[in-house]
Amino acid sequence: MSPRPARMPRAARWLFRSLAPASVLAVAWLLGQGRLRGVADPRWDEVAAAAGLVAGLCVAGVRRALRMPTGSRPRVRDDLELGAPLVAAAYMVVALAGPGMHPLVYVVMAGLVGFFDALPAALLLGLTLGFEALLTLRSGWVPFATHAAFLALFAVIYRIVLNARLALARHAEQEAVKARIREVEERARTYRLASAGATEPAPDTGSQWMMAAVKQVEGAVGSVLEIGELALRTHTCAAFLLAPDDRTLVLHDCRSSSERVQRGAVLAGEGILAGVLKRSVPVRMVSPSGLRGVTWYDGGPAPRSVCAVPLAEPGGQLRGVLLADRMEPEPFEDRDEALLRTLAGEILRAIEVERVLVEIRRARDEKGRFFKAIEDLNRAGNLESVFGAVLDGARQLAGLDFAAITLVSEHEGKREHRVARISGTSPAGKTLEGRVFPDNNGLVANVVRYGTPLPGRDLRAMDRQVLFDDDTRLRGLGALKILPLAAGDRILGTLVAGARRKASLDEDALRMLEVIALQAGQAVLRAQLFDQTERLATTDGLTGLLNHRAFQARADEALAQARRYGRACAVLLTDVDHFKSVNDTHGHPIGDQVLRGVAQILREKARDTDLVARYGGEEFAVIMPETDGKGALVIAERIREAVQAKVFQTELGPLQITISVGIAAAPVNGTGKQELIDLADQCLYFAKRNGRNRSVLPQLMESSRRSA
Ligand code: GH3
Ligand code: MG
Ligand code: MG
Repeated sequence: MSPRPARMPRAARWLFRSLAPASVLAVAWLLGQGRLRGVADPRWDEVAAAAGLVAGLCVAGVRRALRMPTGSRPRVRDDLELGAPLVAAAYMVVALAGPGMHPLVYVVMAGLVGFFDALPAALLLGLTLGFEALLTLRSGWVPFATHAAFLALFAVIYRIVLNARLALARHAEQEAVKARIREVEERARTYRLASAGATEPAPDTGSQWMMAAVKQVEGAVGSVLEIGELALRTHTCAAFLLAPDDRTLVLHDCRSSSERVQRGAVLAGEGILAGVLKRSVPVRMVSPSGLRGVTWYDGGPAPRSVCAVPLAEPGGQLRGVLLADRMEPEPFEDRDEALLRTLAGEILRAIEVERVLVEIRRARDEKGRFFKAIEDLNRAGNLESVFGAVLDGARQLAGLDFAAITLVSEHEGKREHRVARISGTSPAGKTLEGRVFPDNNGLVANVVRYGTPLPGRDLRAMDRQVLFDDDTRLRGLGALKILPLAAGDRILGTLVAGARRKASLDEDALRMLEVIALQAGQAVLRAQLFDQTERLATTDGLTGLLNHRAFQARADEALAQARRYGRACAVLLTDVDHFKSVNDTHGHPIGDQVLRGVAQILREKARDTDLVARYGGEEFAVIMPETDGKGALVIAERIREAVQAKVFQTELGPLQITISVGIAAAPVNGTGKQELIDLADQCLYFAKRNGRNRSVLPQLMESSRRSA
């Protein structure tokens, strides 16, 4: 059994799909021949063409419907398969029923332009113009040109209008969504779900959660008010909540027979409601002539009886007022007031539950971000990525405007600090990165000295604090904390955290920063060790130059680059002359000192882009990118002369030495690395045999061989 669903045989499928195009062609042919003459006496070819069109349309329609659930966009071919028979059918009708049916073509055109993409719509417009030609060209150019121009103009204008309308609708929809979100956020603030004035937008999942919470509160409060309205037979039963400024009340929701309940802000210090809020006790009043001090209506007759209870949390915190009023002077009883108080409790509980849920959610999100930051930190391998992870994590978690890492080091026996990396706008108004300052009495130096965070509790007089040194004053920071980066009992540097808002560095933020700083200390130490190990693996212990292995790898790179871009690249090999006798006469340590001296000269005479290496023993190698043999010879001579001029002081008196140099350069002398090194070695050998203390190019070696 085949696992795939049975499919129609190929031939049958081909036949089905050819129906529509064949009948479109047939209609075109009939039209061109002028054989579509009327419906009164249909001939077989007309009937066949019409049947073909209908069948083709059915096939196209069914295929489209089958495709619909998969959600895939129809292809141009599918659109043509449906559109072409429609156009043909329209023209068949016009030809059979007379020019009175011509508007049908416009209707079909509007449909095609409206539903299809630009490309198939344009192709179908072309087809329509073709049919139009077959229909009207016989009557002359003028009627055809008029019809064609109208059709094209109609299609284009219709398309433009449609697009404009779609764009407008989309814009209106987006605005409505934004307005709804603003409204929900406003409501959340009234419930104190979101802190008032919080400017950072909540992450997406957070705001969804907030929406759900707000909806829950609305639902609960709505049902409480309905109960109040029914049980107390009120004119209005309304909940007003205090705005974040505590000075105004805002209607949260009400059930009322009146249209005039205040939708805007109601002053909390006026009228009956003020009495409830001020003393935080229920108020009941009746007045047959109409109550005074009613602030919750926007005009209209005053109610005659009211009962209002405070919405106060168990701790005494006031949230608003729940009130019930009647137009009749029928007083509210004790049990009415008791019921209203119970309902007030329900409203408070609904708000409280949602607030706690939101708080839990916020804490969970925060914890997630925190662990993510720690994870990033632990994954970071080299110093650069450790700095990035520490600063990103610290800024995100503690909402910092400015963060920096400083590292401490010893330089010539003195401790100094370096700003290794900063993130955010520098409060010093100039670039701080890379700045080095001595071990002074600034905050950073003191944090390193004592290993405790600074400043302490008192954050006043921030602008007068010295953070790094006297030259870098910080301005505009409301909160600042500098934490030590410690690994074991070593302090490696500091994490500087600053924020413009005073309230930013609260206890939670500080706790998180402390943990980050702790992890950061370990990560920095790890990365420093890693860098150090890498440096050790690539440098020569005696001279500090690249070692042989690193040289081979870097030389490969340099020569590959030269080959790729067709540039020159020179290789230099040097060897100290009669070095054995230096060792023999002065001893090994002086020999080492000489090697260090030669290395120093090589380093000084080479350019930044050159690679200088200890090739082995008392042999050194230099790779000079972008340098041909002639250029390399000039530098080699400079090096040779400098070595010759150098005087080493020894117990046996001053010592001077010389070196010999062999040179080879790509591409003139070869392109492979080993090829060039071998050639440079031969040149070096040639120099040794010809008196030492000289630099030799392959060209020189060749010409002297020829003359020999
Ligand atoms: P030539 O002019 O032909 O180069 O004579 P040479 O005496 O310099 O001969 P060669 O280049 O073969 O000598 C290499 C000597 O370098 C042998 C070895 O004792 C010495 N040497 C190699 N590595 C070191 C080192 O690290 N320190 C010291 N002091 N000597 C080294
Ligand atoms: Mg040697
Ligand atoms: Mg030697």
